[in-house]
Amino acid sequence: MPDSDRQEEPDWKLHPMRIRGQVRYRCFGDGMCCSDMHAIGALEEDEVVRLQAVDPDVVGYSDLADAHVLRMRPDGTCPFLGDTGCMLHEPMNGLIKPHPCWRFPYGLTATPTGGRITTEHRCSCRTIGRDRPEVPLEKAAQELVERDGRTRANHTVDAEVAIRRDEMIPFAEYEAIEAPMLKALLEEGARPEDVIDRQPFPNLIEGTWGAIAGGMRVVETDSRFDDALSWFGAAIDVRDGGTMDHQARPWTESFDRVLTRVPEADDAEAMIRDWVADSLWSLYWTAYGSFEQARCEMATRLWLLRRLAQEFVSLGSREDVATAEALMIVDLVGTSEWWEGITARLSEAD
Ligand code: SF4
Repeated sequence: MPDSDRQEEPDWKLHPMRIRGQVRYRCFGDGMCCSDMHAIGALEEDEVVRLQAVDPDVVGYSDLADAHVLRMRPDGTCPFLGDTGCMLHEPMNGLIKPHPCWRFPYGLTATPTGGRITTEHRCSCRTIGRDRPEVPLEKAAQELVERDGRTRANHTVDAEVAIRRDEMIPFAEYEAIEAPMLKALLEEGARPEDVIDRQPFPNLIEGTWGAIAGGMRVVETDSRFDDALSWFGAAIDVRDGGTMDHQARPWTESFDRVLTRVPEADDAEAMIRDWVADSLWSLYWTAYGSFEQARCEMATRLWLLRRLAQEFVSLGSREDVATAEALMIVDLVGTSEWWEGITARLSEAD
């Protein structure tokens, strides 16, 4: 969810604020969120002034986001990413560091029963490592407070949600459906596929999966996002009997750091359950369709995640690291405009 979408919401939708159980994260400086991960913006006016005072060339204007953003280096990395991490983190107590960077990987969904603190999984510091501490509610809530002292939601859920395209139910009723799914994932260690309980790759209202894969398989990539998109498209192709070309692996250097940081293998299945739980908890699906479509969408990305992880294992990666790398790709592409447009075209299960 782009930061430019943040909205001010009445307090009753943000409070009480809750964080899902077992969210474990600490920034270890793996560096992915600073390299072609997401638009670094929208920058506020005072941030633009401060950043341009450091370097007049680092800020650009994004027509897509309709906002000022940090201009990336040609290799897709942030101009402030140094050998030991963010060069803006320490000086002046981080005053110059843009707010979206402080906020990531946290997000906030306003619902009729309060605010849900969410986390993005396109970040290996969030997804992998046995020494990631559990995030207390107070700490996460503090990360979401902006310079003007206000807290804004990334996403808002209405009083009713679409359980199917032609059926709306009160949000409280939806919560009763969702609660056992979260419990199964987080407390009972259930297989994510059994919890989602839908078939991947449903029929499309328009177009074909082959055409989608073809559009994603970028021949001339010029960014890490393009590389990720290509892997995503290749995985769709494999499902249709195509081949998985071995193209550039985005974020190789970051995953090398992960291997050093995580000497003892993490639990790959727990990582996947954690991601599926956040896909539900964020409620981002309410922006593009029904819960039925969302389940088919999650089943599809889950399939792609496992296929990509399998491929990375075959190329020599440790299973948990391969899973984190596959998670990066499916979470990044899955939250992009590419995938949102496709999700709206998914048929619902009968
Ligand atoms: S400003 Fe710092 S934290 Fe933000 S993207 Fe650049 S290097 Fe990363």
